[in-house]
Amino acid sequence: MKILFQNCLIYDGSGSPPVSGDVLTDGDRIADAGPVLSALRPDRTIDGGGLALAPGFIDAHGHSDLSILAAPEATGKISQGVTTEITGNCGLSPFPVTERNRDHLNHLYANYGVEITWRDFAGYAAETERRRPAINIAPLCGHNTLRGAVCGYRDEPFDIEQAAALLREQLRQGAAGFSTGLLYTPGCFSAPPEITALLKVLADFKRPYTTHLRSEGNQLLEALSEAVDSCRSAGQEHLHISHFKTSGRANWHKLDDAVRLLASAPLKITADRYPYTESMTQLGIILPDELARYTNDELARHLADPVHFAEVTALLRRQPPERWQTCRLVTTIAPNYAKRNGRVFAEFPDPPLACAEILRDDPSGAMAAFRGMCPDNLRRILNLPYVMCGTDESARPVDYRFGVSHPRGFGSFPEFFGYFKLEEAIRRVTSLPAETFGLAGRGRIRRGYSADLVLFDPAAYRSEADFSHPHRMAGGIKLVLVNGGERSGRVLAR
Ligand SMILES: [Zn+2]
Repeated sequence: MKILFQNCLIYDGSGSPPVSGDVLTDGDRIADAGPVLSALRPDRTIDGGGLALAPGFIDAHGHSDLSILAAPEATGKISQGVTTEITGNCGLSPFPVTERNRDHLNHLYANYGVEITWRDFAGYAAETERRRPAINIAPLCGHNTLRGAVCGYRDEPFDIEQAAALLREQLRQGAAGFSTGLLYTPGCFSAPPEITALLKVLADFKRPYTTHLRSEGNQLLEALSEAVDSCRSAGQEHLHISHFKTSGRANWHKLDDAVRLLASAPLKITADRYPYTESMTQLGIILPDELARYTNDELARHLADPVHFAEVTALLRRQPPERWQTCRLVTTIAPNYAKRNGRVFAEFPDPPLACAEILRDDPSGAMAAFRGMCPDNLRRILNLPYVMCGTDESARPVDYRFGVSHPRGFGSFPEFFGYFKLEEAIRRVTSLPAETFGLAGRGRIRRGYSADLVLFDPAAYRSEADFSHPHRMAGGIKLVLVNGGERSGRVLAR
């Protein structure tokens, strides 16, 4: 199939100003791009009407690992113009799978109704492609899943050689890199030598190390130092900071030091950020450390006991009252609360009790947004030369059958565009992430490159999603092609 786009304003992804012209695709490739390609006989001609034609946008940080199987049309992403997503972030990937972590993963992803039958990158990739995803994904291998596959989710000694061998196998099969989520179980149990040992494996493959830092607030600088030191000790050259932020008002002043620390690191540094000042994660992180380290099952059992429930409620009552104004329930299936998704906890009659009840009844699914980021720091971080857009979300359908997402799942890219000149915004969501994650032949409009293309109206391109309507599609996108077609996404193997 040959498709001719005529009369477009072509943004080639390099950051150069646009040029008027035509683009021809042939199968899954771009066959030509130039001022006028009129002598051709395409199968289909699309009049661009002077609108912008750009390489498909790349979500540098997503979590569609299982949602892409359950809802392969990937509406939340494709409706923003995203054609490729980096998955397997924050230490959580859907492989490798052994009998040590299979039940845990099946439980974690239960709401998607997809049974995890595979054991490695190759098996997962085959099952994903069988379902004809609308977008490409490039999966990272996640440390928490890797650790779970070797020793489960508790703080137990384990054989690092076994973990290293499993990681090597995923990278050989094509995983895009290695991610950690050191704030979460069981990554939080890992000491720096463990990460260094695994990064030594990664360094042989010259692929990126992406990290959800051990702390993004009170210990931000220490956590950044740890990430840099782990890379240096392992000979790993490329460090990518996930959703770079200074979390919590008391830590907003740390941005200068954080930026300096990264600038002086003898590494290639990149980062992603979603353009919002409210984060979203499991509600359970509001608990004190010793409880936050419980697995979901352990927490449910703990809170089912009335004495422990009363203790935890009392602990939550010690939170400063402002905390409940900055914490919003995004999604839960807990009875009594499922209809109140999107509300700030301060709107509930007894916020600490509400929080404890939700955690008891829905410890793994309850998600909350925390307003703790500085708008000015957001602007400064986005403008760092190495920062790209990452939604930090899974691709969702418009309805809420798989739960409710943060509005970033539908609005990050148009929001991100608001911070830049158009050609620079496009560069940061195309060629920059393609180079960062080694997506060869993607991220530019150039002969021979993959026919991942977005036709859109920049004047109408805006987010319609907010916390009251988080799944509203962005305006302004006219047409999206992935590998020259629709529902023709692939799992990209390195
Ligand atoms: Zn994360």
